Amino acid sequence: MSRISVDEARALWLDGSDEELIERAQAVRARFHEPKHATYMVMRIVNYTNVCVAQCDYCAFYVLPNQEGGYVLSREEVFAKIDGLLEAGGDLVGFNGGFNPKLPLDYYCDLFAAVRERYGDRVEFYALTIAEFVYLADRAGLTHAEAAERLRDAGVHWITGGGSEILTEDFRKRHAKFKYTVREYLEAQRAIVEAGLRTTATMVIGFDETLEERLEHLQRTRDFQDACLRDGYDGLFSFLCWTYKPYGTEFAGVEISPQEYWRWIALSRIFLDNVKHVRTSVLTQNEEAFRALDYGADDFDLPIEDEVTQKAGATIELDLEALLAVPRRLGYTVEYRRAERPAALPA
Ligand code: SF4
Repeated sequence: MSRISVDEARALWLDGSDEELIERAQAVRARFHEPKHATYMVMRIVNYTNVCVAQCDYCAFYVLPNQEGGYVLSREEVFAKIDGLLEAGGDLVGFNGGFNPKLPLDYYCDLFAAVRERYGDRVEFYALTIAEFVYLADRAGLTHAEAAERLRDAGVHWITGGGSEILTEDFRKRHAKFKYTVREYLEAQRAIVEAGLRTTATMVIGFDETLEERLEHLQRTRDFQDACLRDGYDGLFSFLCWTYKPYGTEFAGVEISPQEYWRWIALSRIFLDNVKHVRTSVLTQNEEAFRALDYGADDFDLPIEDEVTQKAGATIELDLEALLAVPRRLGYTVEYRRAERPAALPA
């Protein structure tokens, strides 16, 4: 089957039936995965600070420096959260916080080295999102390559594609003008790949983005991955799409329907024919997320905490067996997946 173009993707989105989207998405999924089989992880987002100067208008989480309610978690508090994750049967930590001007790159290197030393291979962690990485490198006066090497030397294996939302310059200007430019984002991600670290792609839909902006995001993601594969890198491990939660944010708005989400997962699966995993978001779609497996997703997280999305209205179900019963009822076998260690790094 030939690769879908942007024009064909637009037409499929506007005129294609759910059945057509499912059939085409399943055909791409089957190139990488067994039918009716899905993988998952149990994870916890550790929001180490809520102090942030980026001021994204879709964020209900941040406070400005010196505003009441700002915090930075102590080392002990971080360890307690990781211990709680292990008790819940999980082994993946996602560190995610604000652009806190009081926390230099050294703070992160020390924290990550301490986590690696204490937990070894019992947990894996997504150290930063690329958005935070760009900010930290800039503040430290380092190139992206230099910053990636510093973090790698501190024991970091993964810097994930969080914070991308919609990768168009117009969207960045409308909603997050202090965060990064699309060019900076993709340059940083390429430096991360070249440093031998693992990375992922993400997308968030349901703001005021146009269809053209969504398609541009997919095109940029596919182009990035094509370039990585052409140059001999693994590139993007996965693509995760989730939905905007509007509660308590300056931008506000209403949530999109589960059906729109499922359809976008299908279109993403069809379009991103060079990315192995397409992940569905239990964090923002709860039980509705599992229906996206029929639309081409193959993998998901069961999160036990994420303050950023919970502040904006996400609810978290902690009965993991009850959650896993849902994909099983849909006819899927589900298998726990541990985060992969980058092949290029020394043991
Ligand atoms: S989304 Fe992230 S970068 Fe933007 S204001 Fe919130 S914490 Fe800061």
